Formats: sequence, structure tokens, C-alpha cells
Amino acid sequence: MRYISTRGHSPALDFEGVLLSGLAPDGGLYVPEDWPIIAFEDIANLRGASYVQTAFQIINPYVGDAFSEDCLRELLEGAYAHISHEAKCPLVQLGDNLFLCELFHGPTLAFKDFALQLVSRMFDTVLTRLNKRCVIIGATSGDTGSSAIEAFKGLAAVDVFILYPEGKVSEIQRKQMTTPSESNVQAIAIDGNFDDCQALVKGLFGDGQFRKSVNLAAINSINWARIVAQIVYYFYAGIALGAPQRKVTFVVPTGNFGDVYAGYCAKLMGLPIEHLVIAANQNDILYRTLNSGQYQLEEVVPSISPSMDIQVSSNFERVLFDACQRNSQVIVSKMQALQKGGFDLTENEQIYLKTYFRAGRCSEEETRAEILNTHRGSGHIICPHTAVGVKIARELDRTTGASVVSLATAHPAKFPDAVRDACGMNPALPEMLAKTLEQPERIVAMPNSQEELKEYIRTRSLP
Ligand SMILES: *Cc1c(COP(=O)(O)O)cnc(C)c1O
Repeated sequence: MRYISTRGHSPALDFEGVLLSGLAPDGGLYVPEDWPIIAFEDIANLRGASYVQTAFQIINPYVGDAFSEDCLRELLEGAYAHISHEAKCPLVQLGDNLFLCELFHGPTLAFKDFALQLVSRMFDTVLTRLNKRCVIIGATSGDTGSSAIEAFKGLAAVDVFILYPEGKVSEIQRKQMTTPSESNVQAIAIDGNFDDCQALVKGLFGDGQFRKSVNLAAINSINWARIVAQIVYYFYAGIALGAPQRKVTFVVPTGNFGDVYAGYCAKLMGLPIEHLVIAANQNDILYRTLNSGQYQLEEVVPSISPSMDIQVSSNFERVLFDACQRNSQVIVSKMQALQKGGFDLTENEQIYLKTYFRAGRCSEEETRAEILNTHRGSGHIICPHTAVGVKIARELDRTTGASVVSLATAHPAKFPDAVRDACGMNPALPEMLAKTLEQPERIVAMPNSQEELKEYIRTRSLP
């Protein structure tokens, strides 16, 4: 399997190449040259298979020679041993033909663990084989940073530095980042906001000499390997509800478009998905785009579902590439226009997107009301991101024969204030999280200075 850049000016790479490089040198995103199809019978044969067995079938066609079959199985076993629920992503019924798929049973209680637990092990295996080390640097507003630190801690070939805006992440999120004691992972509090953290990361990547000297790598959600890992739970949940004979609709709380894009990949691979519904909070750029044909940037308005507070949904470029029949010239000019505030879709592009996606949006008031409503109706407490999806799922037609599955992206205990505010309940703290909160923190604080950061990383990372 080979991967090409959406912008058309980077050489095609194999899986190992896209894993280690993240973004393509031309600024584009890697996508597979063609899609592996899982035949109807093969999907049917996965009924009753374990999560790891399902993951193997889905992921193996993507990795090519990067990992032998035995090695891939071992990586999958290792990664998903850290997801505490036996079913990994259990389905919970909320109402008639309405289900939650709980993706928060990983070590940091958000769905990002499903991808990062696997990607970290892939990095370590490839780098060890190449006898190389690398430094991973990332900026976080909360969930990605803790998930990355948890996934990479203790691995031999990788040093991880995560920048977060001092005082602007929740106490739980900070403690998840600062309590791991392994010396190869480090959270750094930056005197600034999230944009400052991102600018520091970009600056380091922009310094070719530094980038090369420490072998810098990225694991943000545009990394293709993360997408591949996320395709698996669409199949696993779909099959549990009767696929391939029965269709399934998925509702996906969306920010950077990585998760819902993985659903689109599942559909192209042969999973009978009726609709993929993009669920947005008040930052509803994708909802507006699908309906108006115009992608217009606006200010981000902070919400109680912060991981969806985003205007530039990076992974959207991948589906746009298909919508314009893989014409990279079109992508380049749209992305140039985006620098100036937005771009338009052609009628055909809009039709393509509407063939695969629907979109819904949910206000802050409606999000709070849904947390209360779900608790009253089923006894389940859901997080604010999940509530955005459930509200939109309830408005869909559930009598078409397709089951409706709304993805539960985080555990409610990660957002206790919003939950208490909405339904007057304190979500129970999982034991794992309770332990984390008691452990001593390693706090490293730094001014918003690229030079100091570089110096710190140089002295702290092994050559
Ligand atoms: C990251 C995240 C999202 C958004 O997922 P994308 O792949 O960026 O669209 C939604 N909910 C939670 C809890 C998250 O952490």
C-alpha cells in the first residue's frame, strides 16, 4: 500500500514513511492510493470476533511490509490491553434503536487512547528496528496531550514533550499530564495560550537544523496511522449490530474531523453505513459548509465541549481531495484561499460530500439539556461532547432499519463541572483517575520562548 499527498508535490511513501512523517513536506496530508475492500463474507465472518481480531483484519492491509502479521498482532494485543473494558468499545442502549458506543475506557478516558496506544507502539517498533530515536513534540488544549504522554511513557526510542497553556487546562487534564514519572515524557506549562503553544511547535518544525538534529516527529491527528486505528471501532460496533446484513448510522462529535473521517474510510472499505453524521457544537463551520457550499472561517467561541472548539478541521482536506476527484491543484488553491478566510465548493463537490455526510449542530443550552435528558431517560451520565452527538442522533429518523450509534468520546468524569451544572450529579470517578489525582506532579514551566524551549529539548532528549 502506498500513500500520496493531497497537495501532489511529495513523493509517495509506504506505511513506515507516513507513520514517521505525519504531514507531507508539501503541506498536504497523506491518503492511501486506493482503498482496501473487506468483502461482504469477510465482514460477516468477523461476527463474534474479538476487538483485536477485528483490528487485525482492518489494519493489516494498510501496513504493508512495515510489520509482519505476528508483529502486528503483538502490537494490537499490547495496545488494547490498556483499554480496561473487556469489549473495548461497549455498546449501550439509550432508546429505541439508539445506541452509545463508549470509547472512553482507555487510560486517559477519551477516545484518543484507541489510536495513540497503538501508534506509540508502532513508532517504538519501527525506530528500534532502524536503530534511531526521535523527539515528539505537540501542543495540547487537553485530551491529546495526556493521551500521548500515557501512550509513549516508558518506550525506549521516543522522547515526548507536550506543551500546554499554563492555567488553561482543567485540573484533571493537567494531572494526567504531570503525574507520569517516566523520564521520556514531559509536559511543559507555557506562559501563554493554546495558540502560543501551537506557534512554538510550528516554529520548531520550521527550524530545519533543529528538526534534523533531534529527529522531530508529530503525532497530531493528521497522522495517517491514527486514522487507521480509528476505523476499527466502526466495524466492531457495526458488526455487533448486524452488519453487513444491516446498515448502521454513526453520529460523531467532531472537531478536527479525524474521527468522522475514519468512519468514511470504513464505508469506502465496505462497511454498510447508512449515514455519517458530523455533530458540531456552536462552532459549526462544517454544518454551515455542508449546507451552504462555503467554508468560511469565524472566531472560535469557547464551549463546554472544548475538544470540538475548532474552525480549521485539518482532516477535512482528505475528504475534500476525494470530493474534487483527487485533483491536488484544486486542493492547493482552496488551501491558499483558506489563508485569507475561506473557500467555495463546486456543486459537484458539495454533492459528493452530501452523499457521504450529514451534519447537525447543538447549542450550549441544548447540550446541557441533553445531559439531563439522557440521565433521566436511561440513568446514564454522558460528557458534554457525547451529549452534542446524542442530541443530534435523537432527531434522526430511527425507523429506516439502520441502527443509530452515537460515539461517546470522553468519560463524564473528565468534565465534572459541566456535568454537575447540567444534571446536578457528580459523575463517579473511575479508580484509575482517582489514583492519578493523588500522585505527585512534575511541573515544568517555561516562558513563551522558542530558544529556551529548544535548549530544554536538546539537553533533555537522548541523541
Ligand atoms: C478530540 C475529541 C473530539 C473531536 O475529534 P476529532 O477527531 O478531532 O474530530 C471529540 N470529543 C472528544 C472528547 C475529543 O477528545
